[in-house]
Amino acid sequence: MLDSFKREIDYLRISVTDRCNLRCLYCMPDGIDKRPHDEILRDEEIVKVVKESVKIGIKKIRITGGEPLVRKGIYELIRKIHDVEGVKEITITTNATLLLGNVKKLKNAGISRVNFSLDTLDDEKFQFISNTDLTLDYHKLIKELIENEMSPIKINAVLLRGFNDNEIPKFIELADKYNLIVRLIELMPVGHLNFDYDKYYISKDKVLKTYKELIFHRKDSISEYYHVEGKKGLIGFINPISHKFCSSCNRIRLTADGHLKPCLHNNNEIMIKDIDETQLLDKLKEAIKAKPISHTLDESRDNISDRPMNKIGG
Ligand code: SAM
Ligand code: SF4
Repeated sequence: MLDSFKREIDYLRISVTDRCNLRCLYCMPDGIDKRPHDEILRDEEIVKVVKESVKIGIKKIRITGGEPLVRKGIYELIRKIHDVEGVKEITITTNATLLLGNVKKLKNAGISRVNFSLDTLDDEKFQFISNTDLTLDYHKLIKELIENEMSPIKINAVLLRGFNDNEIPKFIELADKYNLIVRLIELMPVGHLNFDYDKYYISKDKVLKTYKELIFHRKDSISEYYHVEGKKGLIGFINPISHKFCSSCNRIRLTADGHLKPCLHNNNEIMIKDIDETQLLDKLKEAIKAKPISHTLDESRDNISDRPMNKIGG
């Protein structure tokens, strides 16, 4: 379906839980106020939303969270979504700490590609930013993804000044070693966190000035990709703040507690819990029509989403 600005909306991001086993400092450092289970959409409710959304042209689904793999029965839920007629592709964004040993199971459930988040290649720094004592054996995970033909592998790293901007040479080596894509995401002001946004924010342009070996390769609707002469793999940048890509936005979001979010960067939400199919279809259309022409974070932060990222899904 086309939105009010003639953008084709064919992509639904579903946050299946707001819970997570990490406490990333820029996302949910203090954990969550645990909600009663009946406030979270049940499998049947999520599948109902998917069934109605394919009727108006949604073809691609991404499962996200919180951490999607902490939801009980997640593999069965993915299978149910995958089996909805009209769903062409189902992918996942995960912190991957629960994925080791489970890639085949995820693939069998219907997931075709995995984006996993990894802000640093250093175990101690991982523990600092994730605010836990966990680590991720990313070499082992990447090998498991390759063995299961889950490609292209995309790693998402939130770019944080003074934390991981000096790790770009290491990300280039990792991309080369496994011929994969590392995407550096600009830090976004989302939710009202006690996190020093201005201290950590760094733009793509600043990074490119430092790493002159990065050569422009190609662009898609949300990322710009760079390569390094003689090396395999790509380094991508996702710059929602410094180079906003709202004109090619193709998505709506469903939160775990049953709200449709037309845009990540404001507070407009449409409640869809406990409504019937006809009303649901109308609400989905309403959400698509309510998409703004662009976010306004470059003008003011007054209107940022009150929900922290773990309650939206990225
Ligand atoms: N837990 C999963 C994960 O970390 O991949 C999925 C949910 S997480 C909210 C989705 C993505 O949003 C992750 O790549 C995460 O790094 C990113 N993210 C969270 N907070 C962010 C922020 N303030 N700015 C930019 N990206 C953010
Ligand atoms: Fe959890 Fe992902 Fe948020 Fe980190 S970014 S706290 S892994 S939901």
